[in-house]
Amino acid sequence: MKFYSTNSRQHLVTFGEAAVQGLAPDSGLYMPEVIPSFPPHFFETLHQKSFQEIAFDVARVFTEKDIPSDHLKKIIGSTITFDAPLVKIEDSTYALELFHGPTLAFKDFGARFMSQALGYFAANEKKEVVILAATSGDTGSAVANGFLGVPNTKVVVLYPSGKVSEIQEKQFTTLGKNITALEVNGTFDDCQRLVKQAFSDRELNEELFLTSANSINMARLIPQTFYYFYAWSRLPQKQNVVFSVPSGNFGNLTAGLIAQKMGLPIAHFIAATNRNDIVPHFLQTSLFQPKPSVSTISNAMDVGNPSNFYRMLDLFGNDFNKIKQAISGYSFSDEETQAAMQSVFAKQNYVLDPHGAVGYLGLKKYQAHHPEATGVFLETAHPAKFKEVVEQILSRKIPIPEKLKSFLVGSKKSIPLQADFTSLKKILKNLSSGSPV
Ligand SMILES: *Cc1c(COP(=O)(O)O)cnc(C)c1O
Repeated sequence: MKFYSTNSRQHLVTFGEAAVQGLAPDSGLYMPEVIPSFPPHFFETLHQKSFQEIAFDVARVFTEKDIPSDHLKKIIGSTITFDAPLVKIEDSTYALELFHGPTLAFKDFGARFMSQALGYFAANEKKEVVILAATSGDTGSAVANGFLGVPNTKVVVLYPSGKVSEIQEKQFTTLGKNITALEVNGTFDDCQRLVKQAFSDRELNEELFLTSANSINMARLIPQTFYYFYAWSRLPQKQNVVFSVPSGNFGNLTAGLIAQKMGLPIAHFIAATNRNDIVPHFLQTSLFQPKPSVSTISNAMDVGNPSNFYRMLDLFGNDFNKIKQAISGYSFSDEETQAAMQSVFAKQNYVLDPHGAVGYLGLKKYQAHHPEATGVFLETAHPAKFKEVVEQILSRKIPIPEKLKSFLVGSKKSIPLQADFTSLKKILKNLSSGSPV
């Protein structure tokens, strides 16, 4: 399969090129040239397949010419090493728990697949591949852990100082080896802007082989389609299935839309956000108006300029009416999020994390008018990742899973960075000269 840039349909590349480049040279986002549908019998027997088998069938569609079948199996085998269980919370309401991976957030799926795929393609490159990742918390940990020790790669994580939880920070500042953490005096949007600037800086790109690990990378998006298929196959009731996706950069929701295009019978999507409501606002007004992000308790979704927006538009042929019919957008305040966490815990004894809680709220709001809908909301992170916040809201202790504990013992190592490109460029150039940063 070939991939085109959202800025030019004529610019076609292979999956390998799309994965290694991240962003297209014209700053567009790569999209699959065609998104083929599976035949109906594929869905009839889906429930008999394992998560890994489903993931393989889906990934094969996108990578057939680029990754040999045997190797793809290996990649899937080292990506999908944990389950994504559906947990019934209320009637017609399921949590899809995507947090059973090593860093306890759904980003493990994307980052692990991507690191293996890039590792495969980077092995043939003369220059070391430098992976830049701006993070609002969870991308950094998932990407750093996914790439830790992958030969011929170096990871540079940019994160907003003081705006990620302590556990999140520890997960990418304590690893060492081929991982460097840059602590930016600014917001997540600043980090994202700096990364974009790095990609468009000609001098830097001549010296370094830069790529992105943000959800603009196709290799991160593809594995996020797997669990939509898997979740749907495990639902006892398969009509009128809607997915509510707590969103920031809208990679997860875009992956769901791609799964739907591949024939997966998803009736509707809910774009659930915190107060950073750019997409819900767009769905209401048809105006896309990025603005500076505001801090919320669901900090991994504090995004003021969602990077996958143009992919979503592209999937609907830039037709506002079509996109409006397919997706409902709702935004929620921190107070509403807290109240949802409290009521679900009181009634169902289930601990939502603040991000999943936004997804839950979106689903409930939609179901109020569509009682026939069977709803799945994505639980994108383990509540212990946001221990302080969750404990305060629920007035109870949240045990830390063993997996997380191992990160807490390491000591933090980061390089402070002013939110300006000159400083970043200097650091990156030191990287290329081989000196430690
Ligand atoms: C990244 C993240 C999100 C937002 O996902 P997008 O694909 O950027 O929309 C939601 N919840 C958690 C816990 C995250 O880490």
